[in-house]
Order: sequence, then C-alpha cells, then structure tokens
Amino acid sequence: MDFQLSEEEEAFRKEVVSFLDEHLPEGTERTPEFQAKWTKAIRERRWVGFSWPQEVGGGGGGIMEQVILKDEMAKRKAPALGSCFMGLAWVGPSIIQYGTEEQKQKYIPDILDGKYQWCTGYSEPDSGSDLASLKCKCERDGDEYVVNGQKIWTSIAMWSKMMILLVRTETEVESKHDGITCLLVEMDTPGIEVRPIKNMSGGAMFAEVFFDNVRVPVENRLGDEGQGWQVTISALASERSSIAEVHGLIRKIEEVKELARNTIRGGRAMSEDPGIRRRIAQAETKIEAMRLNGMRFLTKQLKGEPLGSETSINKLHRADLEIGLGELALEILGSSSTLMGGDDAVDGGAWAKYSLNWPEVVIGGGTPNIQRNIIAERILGLPKD
Ligand SMILES: Cc1cc2nc3c(=O)[nH]c(=O)nc-3n(C[C@H](O)[C@H](O)[C@H](O)COP(=O)(O)OP(=O)(O)OC[C@H]3O[C@@H](n4cnc5c(N)ncnc54)[C@H](O)[C@@H]3O)c2cc1C
Repeated sequence: MDFQLSEEEEAFRKEVVSFLDEHLPEGTERTPEFQAKWTKAIRERRWVGFSWPQEVGGGGGGIMEQVILKDEMAKRKAPALGSCFMGLAWVGPSIIQYGTEEQKQKYIPDILDGKYQWCTGYSEPDSGSDLASLKCKCERDGDEYVVNGQKIWTSIAMWSKMMILLVRTETEVESKHDGITCLLVEMDTPGIEVRPIKNMSGGAMFAEVFFDNVRVPVENRLGDEGQGWQVTISALASERSSIAEVHGLIRKIEEVKELARNTIRGGRAMSEDPGIRRRIAQAETKIEAMRLNGMRFLTKQLKGEPLGSETSINKLHRADLEIGLGELALEILGSSSTLMGGDDAVDGGAWAKYSLNWPEVVIGGGTPNIQRNIIAERILGLPKD
C-alpha cells in the first residue's frame, strides 16, 4: 500500500483545493443562492457523477481522483456532490449499465442535475435480508406491465418522482434469484398509494407503498425481463467510491469531542473524565482501523483485482461505531440527553435524534447479522448458515 500521491494526483488535489478556496469561502452560509451557485459550479466541472462515462454527462474520472475529491470536500465540509442521493448511488449506475439509449437520455441528465428524487422499492414485509424471496406480482399485458403488491421501508417515497422497483414476473423458477424484473416507475401513476411510517425519533422518512393494478409501460423496464437481480447486484457493486470513506465518522467524533469539552458537570468539562476520554480514544482507533481497511480495498481495486466481500467488515464496524457514538453523546449530556426540543435541549436535541436514528446506517443496506454471515462464510470459509 502506497500512501503517496503521484504527481498527477497531487496536481488534481491542488485543483480541488483552489476550487474550494474560490467557491467555498470560510463561514459560507448555505443560503439558497449559495446552493444554486455551488450546484452550477460543480456541474460545470463534471464533478457530479465524477466516475460516470463522459458520453452520458459524467466526469470519466478515476477511482483515486474520486477519493481525493471526496477527501478534500469533506475536510472543508463542502455540500454534497449532487442532491439526488439514490439516483447517484445506484439508479444512475444501473441505467448506465443496463438502460436503453432512450432511458439514458431521459433520466441521467436529471439525476446529475438533482432535478427530482428517486426512491428504491426493493424490501417487502417478508423480504428484507432475503430480498430474492420478493413477491410483488407483475404480469405483462401488451405494451404494459401490471403491478400488484406491497413494498415497505421505502425511504423518501413521499417526496420522490420516480422509483426503481423490483417485481416478480415469474413464479415457477429454479432459483429464487430468477424471474425478478426491474422497472422504472413514475410515482404519480394511478394505483400507487404511499403511506408514511413514523420512526422512533418522531419523523417519517420512509413509507409503505401499495400497488393496485399499476400499469407501467414495457419501455420502462431496466434490463431484460427476469434480469432484475443482476441489475441490482451489479449496480450496488459499481458504487466503488465509498469503500474508503470514513468522513462522516471523523466529523461525528470531532463533534462528540466538542460536546465533551462544552459539557460541564460537577465543575469540570466531561472531556476531562477518564472514562469518557477512554471511549473517545477507542472510537478514534476503530475509525482509523476502518480508514486503513478502506485503503486496502482501494489498493486492491487500483490493481484491477475484484472486490470480494471485504466491504462487509467496514459496514459492520460502522454499525458499531454509529450506535456507540450516539450512546457516548447521551452519556456526556447526562440527564438533559432526553430533550429533543425546547430551549434546554443541547444542539436543538440533535444528539437524542442521532442516537435514535441508528437504524438508517445499521439496518439499511444489510443488518449486522447478515454482514457477520457474509464474513463467516465468504471470508473465513465457515460452513453455510
Ligand atoms: C432507515 C432505513 C431505510 C431503508 N430504506 C429502504 C429503501 O429505501 N428501500 C428498500 O427497499 N428498503 C429499505 N430499507 C429496508 C432494509 O433494507 C431492510 O430493513 C433490511 O434489509 C432488513 O430486512 P428486514 O427489515 O425485513 O429484516 P429481516 O430480514 O426480517 O431481519 C430481522 C432480523 O433477523 C436477522 N436475520 C435475518 N436473516 C438472517 C440470517 N440468515 N442469519 C442471521 N440473522 C438473520 C436480521 O439480521 C435482523 O436482525 C430500509 C431500512 C431502514 C432501517
């Protein structure tokens, strides 16, 4: 593993830094005007969809440059590269790989511009970890598919214009991974009902989605009929830039440290408490281990070697850390930790909400138990579950 940047990479890093100096002055307020100017500037640079092919409007950039870009942006707390999260993370890559020319022209520019949101209709009431057991029914009727069934935990369904949806087009199959088809569905199609689900911090960011004879044009199928599983798997695998990322956690531990410095109990700052100091140090050590692990995966990719199941290791550590940092913050705050609003709530109750919002990173994208199974079976070679 070589941590030194090459001459070209160093030049690119400098280019990013001077762009940030120009467009992100110290203390920049995130006003709508600033946001609009920022969005225009990063789009002109083709830094949204940085690794996507240039012919679809992406930047055609390499893995290492992408890591440098994200690193420098995170150091300066720059706004995200693009505002259509799921569109950029997996819908866009799926369309680039499996879509028709028409689909690419219709959807990719809007995803890059963040014109509207996409949601993901994969999970069902009895198909989460075992996603391939999904049952949402889909039958062909001429030039249309007719969808009947239910999805659940669909994040931001209520604010999305489009959904990437997995349905079952065939039930008599040898393997449950066959007979699944992927559709791109307009959320205002008649027959779709979205019912928000309240989470334990009181907000509602995901929903149940019901399909009652929803008609979807065949031209909205992504990939071949029955190929939905491959579309999903390879799209998720193509999201390569995040494997070495620990920025969010580094930012969070810095915030926890600041909280400890600012919280005075028994006449002294909590940052002086030996127990709290030890836990902060443990978390920092774990984050550094994750960062180095990420660099190992990155090195493997740069050598052209395929990534196996190793990323499950960092996913598992991250789950642990996010829960641990939430608990640590509440302990630092003591009795005021339960306040989620009002004048006495520290940081407007953000820590209480953070500690209740762990399911997003812990369960979303695969639960810890599933990661443990993957590590046990595919990395350690233990017998199948
Ligand atoms: C915040 C959030 C956002 C989400 N957003 C979306 C979204 O936008 N779109 C979408 O489609 N889905 C979304 N999900 C759903 C998510 O992908 C599923 O919740 C997840 O895959 C787990 O499935 P499940 O809830 O059905 O739990 P289950 O699969 O029923 O699991 C329940 C428990 O059993 C354990 N378990 C299951 N199978 C095994 C096994 N073989 N070995 C050991 N333990 C096992 C699990 O680890 C878990 O602890 C979201 C979830 C969350 C929390």
